[in-house]
Amino acid sequence: MVAENLQQGAQAGETPRGRLAAIRARIGAAARAAGRSAEDITLVAVSKTFEAPDIEPLIAAGQRIFGENRVQEAAGKWPALKAATLDIELHLIGPLQTNKLKEALTLFDVFHTLDRERLAEALVKERDRGAALPRLFIQVNTGEEPQKAGIFPGEVDRFIASCREVHRLPIEGLMCIPPVDEEPALHFALLDKLARRNGLAKLSMGMSADFETAIAFGATHVRVGSALFGSRS
Ligand SMILES: *Cc1c(COP(=O)(O)O)cnc(C)c1O
Repeated sequence: MVAENLQQGAQAGETPRGRLAAIRARIGAAARAAGRSAEDITLVAVSKTFEAPDIEPLIAAGQRIFGENRVQEAAGKWPALKAATLDIELHLIGPLQTNKLKEALTLFDVFHTLDRERLAEALVKERDRGAALPRLFIQVNTGEEPQKAGIFPGEVDRFIASCREVHRLPIEGLMCIPPVDEEPALHFALLDKLARRNGLAKLSMGMSADFETAIAFGATHVRVGSALFGSRS
């Protein structure tokens, strides 16, 4: 019995299906603890650096929403995966150069990383040429880290207003990546505050190490990579 349980435990932790079930269970528990519904939390499975043979088992297990941080990498693997499973939703979670925008529009359903006026202008240009726009999150650099992308907190209200009133871009929510050496809860609370005062309902925050904390602070989209796929080499 003990051996059997151990075996099942190992299996649950080591197969993609088992890892997915475990993450979904943790999302459910964190949602309940916060008095929220698990249905209000979207799991974005971050598949960067992993190839189709690692991704297909998660699709087979029912996962449909995936995140990638590089356009080139996504272009290499997702067209075939999307052709095989039509209801895949792909989320861009890394910085986007405007010269890659056109290609990104063909691949991604949601951008989490709208982070500057120039990109907003480029989106408008593509829309004017007939492109369908993705759903949009604005990335906020909550830690004001110079090496990191994102709008500084003090500029967020102005940028949201510009996206809405000047560019007529439909903004769904805000996204952040807290500094590695700081308490993420402070950054999640700040992002929630910025979203609320601008009437935005969606919050993309929380990764493998801190998604339960993010859920406690209102995350609607958690971006989980290594806890699902294993560590990246
Ligand atoms: C890689 C990445 C993740 C996932 O990180 P894990 O710690 O592997 O869960 C989430 N968000 C962004 C923006 C990433 O680049």
